[in-house]
Amino acid sequence: MIRPGLTQIISLLLLSATASGSALAETTTSVDTENVIRTAVVSSNAMVSAANPRAVKAGVDVLAAGGTAADAAVAVQMMLNLVEPQSSGIGGGAFMLYWNAKDKQLLTYDGREKAPASATPEYFFGDDGKPVKWWDAVVGGRSVGVPGTLKLLEHVHSQHGRQPWRDLLLPAIVNAEVGFRISPRLADSIAGAQERKLDLFETTRNYFFNQDGTPKRAGTYLKNPEFARALREIASDGSAPFYSGRIARDIVEAVKTEINPGELTLADLAGYNVIERPPVCVPYRAFQVCGMGPPTSGGLTMGQILLMLENHDLPSMGPSVEAWHLFIEAAKLAYADRALYMADTDFVDIPEGLLNKDYLTERASLINTQMAMQKAEAGVPPQDSAMRFSPDTQIERAGTSHFSIVDQYGNIVSMTTTIETGFGSRVMTNGFLLNNELTDFSRAAEKDGLPIANRVEANKRPRSSMSPTIVFKDNEPMIAIGSPGGSRIINYVTKSVIAILDWGMEPQAAIDMPHVVNRNGSTDLEENTGAALHQADLEKLGHEIKVRKLTSGLHAIVIKDNELFGAADSRREGIAAGF
Ligand code: GLU
Repeated sequence: MIRPGLTQIISLLLLSATASGSALAETTTSVDTENVIRTAVVSSNAMVSAANPRAVKAGVDVLAAGGTAADAAVAVQMMLNLVEPQSSGIGGGAFMLYWNAKDKQLLTYDGREKAPASATPEYFFGDDGKPVKWWDAVVGGRSVGVPGTLKLLEHVHSQHGRQPWRDLLLPAIVNAEVGFRISPRLADSIAGAQERKLDLFETTRNYFFNQDGTPKRAGTYLKNPEFARALREIASDGSAPFYSGRIARDIVEAVKTEINPGELTLADLAGYNVIERPPVCVPYRAFQVCGMGPPTSGGLTMGQILLMLENHDLPSMGPSVEAWHLFIEAAKLAYADRALYMADTDFVDIPEGLLNKDYLTERASLINTQMAMQKAEAGVPPQDSAMRFSPDTQIERAGTSHFSIVDQYGNIVSMTTTIETGFGSRVMTNGFLLNNELTDFSRAAEKDGLPIANRVEANKRPRSSMSPTIVFKDNEPMIAIGSPGGSRIINYVTKSVIAILDWGMEPQAAIDMPHVVNRNGSTDLEENTGAALHQADLEKLGHEIKVRKLTSGLHAIVIKDNELFGAADSRREGIAAGF
């Protein structure tokens, strides 16, 4: 339905949403979840931008009934789990930024999956004693980390929620019981994943494929009674059944796959904890750009790129070859530091000076405005840690979702949520897919005699690239944004933030603007877009160019003059809506 590079107009009418505190069950926001046309969405009170219209409707209904952003996040995530199961859900992990308007406080929550207690740095080694290939590690229970998303939602709801937990799960339960139509994007994903073993395990095969083995097509009615049952238990008893009850036992059984069996135990599930971490904020021109700290590399790497680019007058350059050259070079330098230093800080010390302004000014001086550098080397930040590492060459694949929510009280959620690659480990239980997040660890444990910071260790959280972001001006929030896209996420989000802050673009235009990506290698330009037109000029500067499909899933809300401006990535099938 929606093709990359094509700006599709989706209009969404919210006819009867009210901000009055009517009971949730009685509230109806008339969101057309099947036929949508995109326009810039402007609202005055509250808004949701997410990857699927049903999920957006579930969230807007909660907000219209007086719920907070934390309440809406529960409804949105549960519905995404049902209708966009390939990307996120309770079988996975997430990071959430929460702006608490009353206390003017930014909180960041780490619901990242973690490795089982039995895991060692050799976790992904084959019989030959060498690390297995990425793909060979993905399929089966071994790549499944202890899921964190459900506990994260419960935790945040207990702190910031107003609506009863059980009500928030109801929309997903009803849709799972009554059924929903497979969206075009989900259908494409199922068909595309067939050759990548999506039909290997019986439970998963039965859900996504017809009896004759063909992938279920767009428009097919799908019911998920097992998921409804699990959610009903979670609705009445919270996360307990999942972490220490019936569902926990099912998860432990499910990961014992014939190929790549996992080692998750009931104790691993029972021991999972959500971690509140300090936000990572950098001043960028007149703004504060805040993100999530390790175990994601998102906040630090974005911060490095922005602090390096601050040395250049991007606002007067506009989105030109000159500006893209600087963006690419800054990204190379930041990704070099990322590869060497960034990992779960509960296990490795990372240099405190990674965001030191003098250090990054010095790093920025390595940028030659007339000539692309080859591969960048990591720098030596001040207050370097005593630990010495080798760089990680790990790449992450795209299969994640981001949503942004603003409620009528001014609270904000910016949450990126994942089961890692599309359809995760392919292992399904209770109607949801289990993640393959452990392949976000380096499969190699060391290189040249030095350990790799992001190697597997017991109870450690794999390094992520997820970059849920909130931007502030004069201490007031002005942008909530994030994206899926594996390690390209950092480029997608940074580009969009620059487009809004430096180039004055409207959020929809900023998101839809063609992507230019560099992760300290060749430069990706988005195919079938204006970006590809820069190929010759960038090659003249010495860049190695690859033109390719770049399927971000940016979902943003900009707050300006007491209005909310919602934008949803045209490359996927999401929308923004509010009242
Ligand atoms: N697993 C990746 C990460 O945590 C995200 C994958 C994706 O965006 O598709 O960074």
